Amino acid sequence: MADRYLSLTGTAPGRFLTRRLGLPQPAALHRWSPDRPALYGPVLHLTAGPSALDLAPVLARTGLTVTTRRPEDAAAGDPGAGGTRPADGATRPAADGSARPAAVVLDATGVRDVDTLAGVHAALHPVVRSVAPSGRIVVLGAPLDPADHHQSAAQQALEGFTRSLGKEIGGGRTVNLVRLTDAGAAASTLRFLLSPRSAYVSGQVIDVLAAAGSAAQVDAPQADPGRPLAGRTALVTGAARGIGAAVAETLARDGARVVVLDVPQAEQDARSLAGRLGGTALTLDVTAADAGERIAAELPDGLDVLVHNAGVTRDRRLVNMPAERWSSVLDVNLASVLRTTDALLAKGTLRPGGRIVATASIAGLAGNAGQTNYGASKAGIVGLVRSLAPRALAEHGVTVNAVAPGFIETRMTAAIPLFLREAGRRMNSLAQGGLPVDVAETTAWLADPASGAVNGQVVRVCGQSLLGA
Ligand code: NAD
Repeated sequence: MADRYLSLTGTAPGRFLTRRLGLPQPAALHRWSPDRPALYGPVLHLTAGPSALDLAPVLARTGLTVTTRRPEDAAAGDPGAGGTRPADGATRPAADGSARPAAVVLDATGVRDVDTLAGVHAALHPVVRSVAPSGRIVVLGAPLDPADHHQSAAQQALEGFTRSLGKEIGGGRTVNLVRLTDAGAAASTLRFLLSPRSAYVSGQVIDVLAAAGSAAQVDAPQADPGRPLAGRTALVTGAARGIGAAVAETLARDGARVVVLDVPQAEQDARSLAGRLGGTALTLDVTAADAGERIAAELPDGLDVLVHNAGVTRDRRLVNMPAERWSSVLDVNLASVLRTTDALLAKGTLRPGGRIVATASIAGLAGNAGQTNYGASKAGIVGLVRSLAPRALAEHGVTVNAVAPGFIETRMTAAIPLFLREAGRRMNSLAQGGLPVDVAETTAWLADPASGAVNGQVVRVCGQSLLGA
């Protein structure tokens, strides 16, 4: 269902009218396309406090133009010392010829106390106004040190800072925090967050801290960087339509051979999508007791990426909810995910270097009236991911993460009554709904072979929804 309000605020009279009425001002988001530059301007690399992070080579490999500015440069009143460094010769000038930054990376890993925290304000205050529309701010933090409550306070402060800036910055700009210890291990995450692929991801805190087991894949050179999943097989459940179909398309774009799984009633759609993507269709109800065995039988050569996307809602307030409505939602959204994951790990179908991406929801984080069954099932996904991730990586070399969509424009949300739907769309920092491709791009980043250090994360794709923490 088209977002007519977004179209209205894109016109001069519409903007005038809605501004006068004090209504939300969503900006048309810049999404990834092969025909457009990744960013319309340079990346500004700033530092707060003393940092030991070797970020420059990682930023250089993004192919973006990087301007590095050290704290002492700012103090000396020199806005450009450190220079504009064309990265790998693949520079992309700002569309309008200006040097307005399209992204800012603030290295705050050296922030250890309230005094050094002031460096965050000192670095960003002068530049925040100049960040281009749909621009990116990525704050880099360090893991909290349990032995140092001053460092923990200052690093945790970055979270409140990031989320607050995300809520006020506007213009389709996003602000995210990445906690890391090794810049190389975070390269795929920085590429994602600095690109239009993360258009609907804001206000997130992402830990890129997984160690051993994943390191070998982190910096592995890829034959074709545009097709990081070449030679890999991905299976997406519930892929005949909606978010799952977009995930299948995006993983195929990135080079994966895709298996499109959906219920027998959706066979025609599943087959036509699989045909278009050069993949295969598998009609199967994920709640079948032998679903894991049937998937394993379909994939004798193994599986690299498993995306648990199939999901249903059967809303009713608890007082009116029959047991069947409860159990059907819990069975599709949670129990089948647990069963299939266990079966595919036990059988070794998921190869080392594999990726599991499960689908949670902001309803599982914030709760939602009429969705005790759905909220429980999606919160269960969060528990599954947090518990299984370290073991799956240690024992099988497989990462386990979740995406938690907010309001995404699909058939599921088109069915919401008009006023509730409008509220759902606007109640986030970007003041609009996301698109299935936004969830798909996030899934593709988590599925990337270079994302081996991202494990146990629940990443919301919600435009920084006001619901939930
Ligand atoms: P959708 O209803 O458009 O598509 C779901 C797909 O899953 C359908 O093709 C359906 O046939 C399939 N499916 C359902 N039960 C199945 C089963 N037992 N076995 C196999 N396939 C089954 O939904 P969507 O909006 O694309 O949502 C996809 C996922 O994202 C779901 O897990 C949903 O809970 C989650 N999500 C969606 C939103 C949103 O705003 N649309 C928000 C948060 C979370």
